[in-house]
Amino acid sequence: MKALVKEAAGPGISYIDVPEPQIENPDDVHLQVAYCGVDLDDVKVYLWNDQAAKDELLRLPAILGHNAAGVVTAVGSAVTGLKPGDRVAIEPIINCQHCDQCQSGRPNLCIHKEIFGKRRGGFAEYAVVPQRCLHLLPNKLSLQEGALLSSFGTAVHAVEVAGPAPGDWAVVIGATPVGMMSALTLKACGAKVVISDVVDGRLEIARQLDGVMVINARKDEPRRFLADLTQGRRADVVVQTMATQVAFEEALGVVCDGGSIVSIAPHSRPVELDIYPQLSQREIRLLGASGRTADTWHRMFDLIESGRVDLGPFVTGIFPMEQYDTAFELMRTGAALNVLVRPGDIATQTNKA
Ligand SMILES: [Zn+2]
Repeated sequence: MKALVKEAAGPGISYIDVPEPQIENPDDVHLQVAYCGVDLDDVKVYLWNDQAAKDELLRLPAILGHNAAGVVTAVGSAVTGLKPGDRVAIEPIINCQHCDQCQSGRPNLCIHKEIFGKRRGGFAEYAVVPQRCLHLLPNKLSLQEGALLSSFGTAVHAVEVAGPAPGDWAVVIGATPVGMMSALTLKACGAKVVISDVVDGRLEIARQLDGVMVINARKDEPRRFLADLTQGRRADVVVQTMATQVAFEEALGVVCDGGSIVSIAPHSRPVELDIYPQLSQREIRLLGASGRTADTWHRMFDLIESGRVDLGPFVTGIFPMEQYDTAFELMRTGAALNVLVRPGDIATQTNKA
């Protein structure tokens, strides 16, 4: 089968023939990949930056691609509840089920996890993963939207970690796709939401989100903007999708004393933090969020099926896999919101009920 493979350390990626994966374990599921989204993590590995070079979960040669959806083609002997023809999305954190983290309901932090897209992956015609990493798509979702679910789950889990109460003020820093999905999720939780960015194109897209205030962090003085909105109190919750020094200072500026900052930035540089005045004295909770749990997937499907979140507008480009260069370039430059790669032709790819 054809696949996009990172063969060795260094820039680039190869579009080559590799052996088709086979069912090896009783709980394995074989699927035909319909779409796989290109995310910034893939771009990092493609370009081979420092973070990619230091990524201990990346095992070369690796088929890249985390954000995949497809159609089941065969199931192992112990698989129940899935059958050939079912449309599924992949949870890219392949957990072990047995470690303390898995046993305590945090499979996203599994000690022995494999990340789908760092060894086996979704930029391939076929994939095999354990059943526990597959989620049946609701009829309402297309396979294209299914390929956005792991990103959406990152946003939903960030909001779970932030834990806003109805009526809270929330700020999302970065009108990235995950940032906008976070804004919609916060709004669905009853929070009053402001999203900030500095890039005109992203601000323009964010302005189309219903019921979300949009500010330009360069022009609108975010700290004062929030203070004016909240009688000086500022935001209870901040979801940060950018991790630059400027974005970090913006987060500390807009969050209220006693508030929470949750970071889901996909890449970062070291930032300076003066712990006593900026954190301790103000009782700021600085939190990270990573991946998704089973509860997150339930919430995601609830948000979609209830119509509170529509992922359709987040698909802004689809390319056949052989045009991967264009797809990666659009994501690298930020010229497209979410680009999907189509590894092959799949008969049911437009079966959105
Ligand atoms: Zn585990």
